[in-house]
Amino acid sequence: MDRDHLLLTPGPLTTTQRTKLAMLKDWGSWDADFNALTARLRTGLLDVIQGADSHVVVPLQGSGTFSVEAAVATVVPRDGHLLVLDNGAYCKRLGKLATLMGRRTTIATRPEDQPVSAAELERLLGEDPSITHVGLIHCETGTGIVNPLAEVAAVCERLGRGLIIDAMSSFGALPIDARALRFDALIAASGKCLEGVPGMGFVFIRKAILDGCAGNSHSLAMDLHDQHAYMERTGQWRFTPPTHVVAALAEALVQFQEEGGQPARLARYQANQRLLVEGLAALGLKTFLAPGLLSPIIVTFLAPEHARYDFKTFYASAKAQGFLLYPGKLTEVETFRIGCIGAIGAQEMQQAVDAVGRALRGMGIGA
Ligand SMILES: *Cc1c(COP(=O)(O)O)cnc(C)c1O
Repeated sequence: MDRDHLLLTPGPLTTTQRTKLAMLKDWGSWDADFNALTARLRTGLLDVIQGADSHVVVPLQGSGTFSVEAAVATVVPRDGHLLVLDNGAYCKRLGKLATLMGRRTTIATRPEDQPVSAAELERLLGEDPSITHVGLIHCETGTGIVNPLAEVAAVCERLGRGLIIDAMSSFGALPIDARALRFDALIAASGKCLEGVPGMGFVFIRKAILDGCAGNSHSLAMDLHDQHAYMERTGQWRFTPPTHVVAALAEALVQFQEEGGQPARLARYQANQRLLVEGLAALGLKTFLAPGLLSPIIVTFLAPEHARYDFKTFYASAKAQGFLLYPGKLTEVETFRIGCIGAIGAQEMQQAVDAVGRALRGMGIGA
């Protein structure tokens, strides 16, 4: 088998051969074997955040955004009011999907190079008692910045508002403990730090609010209350499940546990990130965020200020050497992004750094 390109992207990402091989089997969606697989997966996901006592987990077909949309539709009542803490592209997407489904939405925007502020949240909630829910992106993948989850959760709990967390790119890598944090919904997906393949998301919903979510959703397919009730009753997914994706995620979760769970995964990603940032610094490349704000998930680099720099050429050269990079997502400055996540370690990261060096030299940039 040819070696796949290494995906230095925040999902889809590089998966292990074991995970890929788990997809070589067809499953019947009604069959007891597949129901058992779904049940095992749900238990394993709850374990990742120690959430079995406080939360249920509801899987949903589709990319991660489908699950964000479903979480808002299910948890925020139609006459609710969502405040989105915004410091980047995924925050704006959350604001947009809530607005489109007709939920009253307020967006509080901060600069993209700064974390959102729990103190500002406290002030905004104090000023507007009509806000029922707060939407937070844990790691804003647009820049890679990590937002202060514990502080935001504490403010929401103290002021009695619901909290919806998009933990898509942090889940499994950054610590999240449902026993220590109060949240109504937390969303993640198969193809990020658990290192499965893309195709499904999952939403942790607080048991105490679950019954009250009945009838909130304007959409049949997005109704996680209904998806949960059906799954509890029958063991099955309501509509055709992404069977191969479920099998791959279950296998990826076994490897996650074998590796040592979240702390081990974080350590590997941190080592990847240090190697990447130091390696590219030696090539003269600077990060968009201040060094203290860099996350072990994805790093945004400023494009070289050089007349001969061209992202397309840069990308093509890295690809020819076996590495897929990621374009920037900022409007103000030209950047590119490199992910630190996926089934890659120091050796692959060093090869990626070397490939970036060769790509730059190929454009006549740097030594
Ligand atoms: C990946 C990601 C999503 C989901 O994106 P999809 O393209 O729908 O999978 C949502 N939020 C964040 C923060 C992400 O990193």
